[in-house]
Amino acid sequence: MFAHNPNDLKPCRHMTSLVSALADDSLTGIPRWFTTQHVAGCPHCRNGLEYFQALNSRLKASEIEGETLLTPEQWAAAERAWEKVDTGPGTAA
Ligand SMILES: [Zn+2]
Repeated sequence: MFAHNPNDLKPCRHMTSLVSALADDSLTGIPRWFTTQHVAGCPHCRNGLEYFQALNSRLKASEIEGETLLTPEQWAAAERAWEKVDTGPGTAA
């Protein structure tokens, strides 16, 4: 009866923050052990962990690539815009 329910991908309500912390590797000690054990036996939380890990790696990837997100065309357009500012009104040679 739970099949095909998107809510099935969510970890148990009381485990959400623990599963999230496990995914970003900030969980230590007994909570980490407890959460690892729970995830191993709980398909909801296993899905949740995978979801959080995918989210984290996507966030990290976008941080790393943040400086090169502009395409060459966009850089060219930005440079043209800057040139326009430099030679803007009042500085006509
Ligand atoms: Zn669970």
